[in-house]
Amino acid sequence: MNACVAFTGFYLISKIYHSFLFSSSYARSILMGGLAGMIGLFLMINAVEVNEDVRIDLRHLPAILLAFYGARLPLFIATGIIASSRLLFGLSDQAIIAFIGTFVVGLGMLWIHRRFADRMFLQVMALNVWALSMLSFGLWLNLGWGGTYVSLIMTLWMVGLVAGLLASALTIDLERTTRRAKEYQRSAERDHLTGLFNRRVWEQSTEPLGATSRSYHVMILDIDHFKRVNDVYGHANGDLVLKRFAELLVSETRTQDVVARLGGEEFAILIHDLPVTKANKIAERIRANVETESFFLNGFDPIHITVSIGVAHAKACPVVVATEAADNALYEAKHGGRNRVVSTGVTNEQFGTA
Ligand code: GH3
Ligand code: MG
Ligand code: MG
Repeated sequence: MNACVAFTGFYLISKIYHSFLFSSSYARSILMGGLAGMIGLFLMINAVEVNEDVRIDLRHLPAILLAFYGARLPLFIATGIIASSRLLFGLSDQAIIAFIGTFVVGLGMLWIHRRFADRMFLQVMALNVWALSMLSFGLWLNLGWGGTYVSLIMTLWMVGLVAGLLASALTIDLERTTRRAKEYQRSAERDHLTGLFNRRVWEQSTEPLGATSRSYHVMILDIDHFKRVNDVYGHANGDLVLKRFAELLVSETRTQDVVARLGGEEFAILIHDLPVTKANKIAERIRANVETESFFLNGFDPIHITVSIGVAHAKACPVVVATEAADNALYEAKHGGRNRVVSTGVTNEQFGTA
């Protein structure tokens, strides 16, 4: 019963650990630590009483889970809850030994986590063996060597190892599945070369825009004479330029803006909730920064490139219309001599350039 409650709790903790809902890492840590501490308390309250002074339980399992995640603050919180509540059962020598011991076990766990960071199975085995060894040591201090101690230790290791390994199998499986899901999500949403959003995400995030009365700005950016970069410095150096260019776009925009690589050396930026003049300023700043940036290459001196940008300011208008307007503005920028920003406005009533 103890193990089942613990496993359910571990599932919830892993969900909290991987959740995107927390903007503050403190809130996440406090929740994880609090929940793990509660599970620890539950396991203690439902401990098997060996005699008046000695109880054995599985309270180390939540700590193992937090150590496995390398979650230091939650581990500290959970350890604090578990350790101090042990004192509630009475302030005895045993309780004080357990109090100090719990923290020592926690510190050792963090060391083991770091030592075996890349080897999940070995790590959880080591964490379990470490926790059980320390518990055995604590019991030896309390009981001394003898028949009771030996039979108690055998029970502790048997139950502890079975529950510990099951919990670990569950944790490792959850961790692998979650990591894989994140990887798949990333490769489905991101451009492999630059890490920017791909066309699919761009279309998904721009599609609903026409249905709202929100105003937005679409920028289409195309590097000038990029073919020459490839021809003169090679395709691999061309890739380096694209990567650095993408980094510049990210650093020049806010996290809520959508920056995407639509293909080749063509990029797009979607910006909400900014006045037209501000959006134009951003486009102009990007253009100017690209012009002055030194792009580092392999085997050649750094080079300079320029970019042409078409901007469409749109309000309550389908994104295809805004994108076409931005494309036309980009075409104008190219024909006007490149390395420039051309902006245009479209509204619901007036689907055309303003
Ligand atoms: P313009 O100023 O008119 O935009 O000229 P341009 O040379 O940039 O235009 P064009 O569209 O003719 O050339 C785009 C080049 O971008 C052609 C292609 O080889 C290159 N390109 C497309 N995708 C990649 C990529 O992933 N890596 C590299 N290195 N080059 C790419
Ligand atoms: Mg180009
Ligand atoms: Mg192009």
